[in-house]
Amino acid sequence: MSFQEFQPKLEDKQRAYAELAEVKELFASRGWFAGTSGNLSVRVGDYNPGSFQFAITASGKDKSKHTPGDYLLVDQNGKPCESTALKPSAETLIHCEIYRLTGAGAIFHIHSIFSNVISEWFWERRSVPVTGVELIKGLGIWEEEAHIEIPIVPNFADIPRIVPEITDVLNPRLPGVLLRKHGIYAWGADAFEAKRHLESFEFLFEYVYRWELLNKTRS
Ligand SMILES: [Zn+2]
Repeated sequence: MSFQEFQPKLEDKQRAYAELAEVKELFASRGWFAGTSGNLSVRVGDYNPGSFQFAITASGKDKSKHTPGDYLLVDQNGKPCESTALKPSAETLIHCEIYRLTGAGAIFHIHSIFSNVISEWFWERRSVPVTGVELIKGLGIWEEEAHIEIPIVPNFADIPRIVPEITDVLNPRLPGVLLRKHGIYAWGADAFEAKRHLESFEFLFEYVYRWELLNKTRS
């Protein structure tokens, strides 16, 4: 196979960058990238679990701004596919693992207050329980009075240590994982679906937070 055959089409790469730019701008306007945190990726080209490529946000950029160095293309090991001085996000290995396990088309990760607080609130349970809330449908789960458990994994400064924790808890039915006192990873078949999932998770975290607080003040 020639080198060319491994390369995604230029227009596919540009589409991925354009999708990332659009989501980045929207999420930045919601304050979801405090202190250059968070990262976004969209998969590009052919996929099999052992070989794929994706466009991801570069490390350390202010995500409220658009610059020519915002994104780069990396492979299934998180290594840049092109000659570049840009560094992929520090959490790229987590994206690699989620793509390997799910074959998703896009993965979005943000740090929000609600995801942080709720991950600590339910840490001993290792999951956030939610039952019967309409927006569970936003995650593609349509049963009446559906019950979900959003998994929580420990957070480590050493990112490779987080990867096997995600491997252990990832539920193919539920497109997201919470990192303790860190943030949410959500994914979908494409950028549109990953965005819908991320927004649904955030809604559910805020709902659970407010509901738990309300119950506490009542009792
Ligand atoms: Zn993060």
